Amino acid sequence: MTAPRLVVDLDKIHFNASTLVSRLRPQGISVTGVTKACMGDPRFAKTLLRAGVKTLGDSRIENIETMRADGITAPMTLMRSPMPSQVDRVVRHADISFNTELDVVTALSNAAGQAGRRHGVVLMIELGDLREGIMPENLEEVARKALCLPNIDIRGIGTNLACLSGVSPDSRNMGELSRLADVLENACGLVTSIVSGGNSSNLQWALSGADTVRINDLRLGEAILLGLDPLERLPIAGLHTDAVSLVAEVIESKVKPSQPWGKIEQTAFGYALENVDLGTIGQSILAIGRQDIDPEGLTPPKGIRLLGASSDHLMLDTSAHPVKVGSEIAFQPNYSALLRAMTSPFVTKEFMEADKEKSSPTDFFLHSHAGKNLRQWQYGLNCLGVVETSFAK
Ligand SMILES: *Cc1c(COP(=O)(O)O)cnc(C)c1O
Repeated sequence: MTAPRLVVDLDKIHFNASTLVSRLRPQGISVTGVTKACMGDPRFAKTLLRAGVKTLGDSRIENIETMRADGITAPMTLMRSPMPSQVDRVVRHADISFNTELDVVTALSNAAGQAGRRHGVVLMIELGDLREGIMPENLEEVARKALCLPNIDIRGIGTNLACLSGVSPDSRNMGELSRLADVLENACGLVTSIVSGGNSSNLQWALSGADTVRINDLRLGEAILLGLDPLERLPIAGLHTDAVSLVAEVIESKVKPSQPWGKIEQTAFGYALENVDLGTIGQSILAIGRQDIDPEGLTPPKGIRLLGASSDHLMLDTSAHPVKVGSEIAFQPNYSALLRAMTSPFVTKEFMEADKEKSSPTDFFLHSHAGKNLRQWQYGLNCLGVVETSFAK
């Protein structure tokens, strides 16, 4: 096994996805499974589809191409306005794209014509978060012009909140989106079949018992992967919050003073935070750094404290839990740390699936994963956080 590595437990992902699909179904809301944080990994995508997700969504055409190349035929949505330079790839591989610019929709129509296809468009509406979107008062005009394009089907509307400005989904902005769906139908004679309310941050509202009116789709990434509600970053009841872990290897373990000495100026990443003088501490270095993770986004095992990170080193206070060089430590990444680890070529990705053999709780105290099956080893990680491996592997 190589370190560092991201370990994704697909059984827990399946559980989280199918739980959310069945909680939203009574509200008349279906789930678009968002694959971008896993770079469109087909093993992740297929797990979502098995869990009852009907559509896959990604913000990068490259990830959609990865899934298509693997033979996945499910409907796929490009959830970012296409780059004009990529419209040929978009109409070839994505069924639908999210759009806010008529010029782009025109380019998509031309590309679709050349490819002998039609392309679905969801018009994104600005409802206050100030990321993407057509201003509500301009929607009708944009829709009328898009309707004149020969190879485009307007499939619906959507919005995205709580991304850039933290604007929460509520009955007011979701009611506005529902109203705009009616406007499109009445004024333009369109069937607004998709009314996509937003991302994981919509779950609280959608499951609050509020009238969800015409919202019939949510695009879920973080809730499935991390079991968290992005509004407050609190666990969503009943979901696994430990489906993803990040494992890194210890390359130095020493007792050192907790305070630096010498004249202090900037570090490689600005000024260091001053910390409390704790005398000498057990300090360990893991072979992973800012190039691979967002250090602020890692939760270490109990008893281990993060001290800081440079490009290639992550420093820990391991006084309470001395670790040997060559041992491995598992962290829970937040969304930011997960994204960066997933896109680092230095981090191996491991997607684990059901193992028929059930492990017993005694397996938690593994001191070496050599010869053990992956499932037992994963239980060891989640419960203990530290896996001791023999130095000479
Ligand atoms: C990334 C993304 C999502 C998924 O967001 P999560 O908070 O991870 O659920 C939904 N919609 C759009 C447009 C996105 O880019």
